[in-house]
Amino acid sequence: MSKRRIAIFGATGSIGVSTLDVIGQLGGRDAFEVTALTGNANVEALARQAVASGAEIAVTADESRYGALKEALAGTGVDAAAGPSGLMEAAERENDMVMAAIVGTAGLKPALAAAARGADIALANKECLVSAGPLFLDAVKRGGGTMIPVDSEHSAVFQVFEEHQRQALERVIITASGGPFRNKSLEEMRHVDAATARAHPNWSMGLKISIDSASMFNKALEMLEAMHLFALKPEQVEVVIHPQSIIHSMVGYADGSVLAQLGVPDMRTAIGYALAYPKRQPLAVDRLDFARLARLDFEAPDETRFPALRLARLAMERGGLQGAVLNAAKEIALEAFIEGRCGFLEMAEVAEAVMEALSGLPEAAGIEDVYTADAEARRLAAERLRR
Ligand code: NDP
Ligand code: MG
Repeated sequence: MSKRRIAIFGATGSIGVSTLDVIGQLGGRDAFEVTALTGNANVEALARQAVASGAEIAVTADESRYGALKEALAGTGVDAAAGPSGLMEAAERENDMVMAAIVGTAGLKPALAAAARGADIALANKECLVSAGPLFLDAVKRGGGTMIPVDSEHSAVFQVFEEHQRQALERVIITASGGPFRNKSLEEMRHVDAATARAHPNWSMGLKISIDSASMFNKALEMLEAMHLFALKPEQVEVVIHPQSIIHSMVGYADGSVLAQLGVPDMRTAIGYALAYPKRQPLAVDRLDFARLARLDFEAPDETRFPALRLARLAMERGGLQGAVLNAAKEIALEAFIEGRCGFLEMAEVAEAVMEALSGLPEAAGIEDVYTADAEARRLAAERLRR
C-alpha cells in the first residue's frame, strides 16, 4: 500500500503533538510520509519534530523566527520556510491529507488552500467552519477531498451519523463537560482569572481552547461547527451538560432512537479515527471500564452564566457573517482576558456588542468578505476594550 502523504498545520500544539503520536501508532514511516510541519513561536520543538518525523519542510508562521528555525535545522536535510508564503508552500504540496490544527482564524487560509488542492482535511481548527462554513465546505467539495472532523463532539456525530437516514434525522446533541466553572455563581465568575480558567477538569488542551471551554465559547463555536458540518437547522443543534465527558455527542432520529459515541476523554481517538478513515485501526488509548464508571450525569446548560451559548444561537439564526464576527470578536476579547485587560464575563459582552454592530453585513460572496468581516469585528472589539 502506498504511504499517505500528510502535512500537520499546528504541529507544535496540543493536537499537533497528539497527531504525531497517533502517526507513530498507526505505522509511523511505514504508513505515512510527513510532508510539512508548521508551528509558530516554538521553533525548537518544531525543528525536533521535523527531524524525528522525517518531514520535508518545517514552517514557522512567524517570519521573525525564520533565522532561528533555519539554524535549528542546519545540516538535518529538512527545509525551512516562514510566514504566510511558507504556510502556503506547506498547503500546496502534494498532500493526501492535512491535519488542520492551527489555533484561531490564522488557520483558515492554509486549510482552504489545502482543501482546494484536493487533500483530505482532518479538521481540528473549528474556526474554519465557524467563520467560513459554506465557503470552506465548498472548497473541500470542489477539491474532491474528504473532510473528517477531529473535534471530539463532531467526530462522535460523524461516527454515528447515518446519511441514508437523513430524512429521519431530528437533532444533534452536543455534549459539554461544563468546564471548571460549571457550579460557580455569576458573581464568582466575574472575578476569575486566566490561570483558573485554563484548568479543564477532563481534557488536556491548548491555552485558548481551555479558556473557551470555561466560558463555553468553545461549545458556542461547536454549535456553529455542527450546523455547517452536518447541514442542520439551528433548532436541530442541542447542547447538554455531561460532566464526565464520556459520551462525546449524540444523534437523535424521528423514531426516538438516539445514537451515541463513547470513549475516554482522549483526543487521540478522534485523531486516530480521522487518520485511519474509513477504516478503524488499533490505538493505545485507555478503555472504558463501565463497572468503575458507575454513572453518567446530564443537566441543562445555563445560558445566563454561559451567555456564549445564547450568542451562538443568535449567530446561527442570523446566519451570514455572524459566525465570523462572533469568532473574531471573541478572539480579541480572549486575548485581552489572557492579558488581564478584560473580565471573564465581559468577553461575551464584547462579542455581543460587536455582533450587534455588524448584524447588517450581507452574506459572504467570497472568502475576502470573511476576512473583511473578521478584521472589522477585531477592530470594533479592540476599540470597545479600550473604553
Ligand atoms: P495549541 O495552542 O496547543 O496549538 C496551536 C498551534 O497553532 C501551535 O502549533 C501554534 O504554534 C500554532 N499557532 C499559533 N498561532 C499561530 C498563528 N498565528 N499562525 C499559525 N500558527 C499558529 O492549540 P490546540 O492544539 O489546543 O488547538 C488547535 C485547534 O484545534 C484549535 O482550533 C482548537 O479549537 C482545535 N481543537 C483542539 C482540541 C484540543 O484538545 N486541544 C480539541 C478540539 C479542537 P506554536 O505552539 O509553535 O506557537
Ligand atoms: Mg470539542
